[in-house]
Amino acid sequence: MKIGVSAVQGDFHAHIAALTQCGVDVVEVRLPAHLDGIDGLVIPGGESTAIIKMMRLYGLDSAICERAGAGLPIYGTCAGLIVMARQIADYPEQPSLGLLDIVVRRNAFGRQVDSFETELSIQGVPGDPMMAVFIRAPYVQSVGNGVEVLAEVKGHPVLVKQGNLLGGAFHPELTNDLRLHELFLRMVQDGNK
Ligand code: GLN
Repeated sequence: MKIGVSAVQGDFHAHIAALTQCGVDVVEVRLPAHLDGIDGLVIPGGESTAIIKMMRLYGLDSAICERAGAGLPIYGTCAGLIVMARQIADYPEQPSLGLLDIVVRRNAFGRQVDSFETELSIQGVPGDPMMAVFIRAPYVQSVGNGVEVLAEVKGHPVLVKQGNLLGGAFHPELTNDLRLHELFLRMVQDGNK
C-alpha cells in the first residue's frame, strides 16, 4: 500500500512518521505527478490559506479533486479538513477543494492559547477513548446529507466521513496512538477490494 502525504506546507513529517510506523510506503506529494500510483492521500494540518495557495500554484488542487472523484481515499487533519470543506463559514472568500459537503469554522475553539487536548470516543475506533490534540482547530459547523459524524466536542462535529473522504479537526499524528491512521488505512484497503 502506498500513501501520499501532501507536503506543500504543514506538519507532514509527523504524518509520514505515523504512517511509516503503520507499515505502509509513503511518498511526499507536491506536484500532480506525485499522485500517480498512490492508494490514499493525507492532507496534514498547518495553515489552510498557505496550503490551498500552494496547491493551486502547482495544479495540485484540480489533480486531487479528479482523483477524489475517482474514489481515492483522502484524510485531512485540521487545516487539511478546512482545505477539503465545501465552505468556510468565517472566511467565505477563502478557496478550498470543496470535496467534503460540510461548512467548517476556522480557529473555532479560540486562538493559539486556547489550544487543548481532550479524550475523544470515536465511532469505528475500538478500545479506550483517544487523546486528541486541538491546535487552533476548526470545527464542523454543519454537514450535508451524506456525511457521517464520527466524533464530537462540545456538540460540534470534529471527525466526519463521507464515502472515501475522512476529515478531522485534531492531530492524531502528534500522539503515539496510531488508531486513526489505521482507520484510514482500513478505508483504503476496503476501497481497493
Ligand atoms: N488555524 C489553522 C487554519 O485555519 C489550522 C491549524 C492547524 O492545522 N493546526 O488553517
